[in-house]
Amino acid sequence: MEEKKKPIANIKHLISWYHANFCVKHEEATEQHYSELQRMALSWNTPSMTHEEFCTRIRQELHCNPNKRHIEPCKTCKALGVPQWKW
Ligand SMILES: [Zn+2]
Ligand SMILES: [Zn+2]
Repeated sequence: MEEKKKPIANIKHLISWYHANFCVKHEEATEQHYSELQRMALSWNTPSMTHEEFCTRIRQELHCNPNKRHIEPCKTCKALGVPQWKW
């Protein structure tokens, strides 16, 4: 039986990835907003998840309204060969 490989990334990577790709593109992107993002993500106690899952969850819980809605492949993970999500 073939086990389906779950595309996952480290939570700390996801925090900085999300912030750099989405939070910096809206006006409320303060240092406080970043702290809140970090605090929230770490409170999940999940060491890793997919980029897609992270986006979905953080947008539900954090008051974050990025102008950019479309999720593009993460360049870092692409360079490292880390699978990200299934389209
Ligand atoms: Zn934000
Ligand atoms: Zn990534």
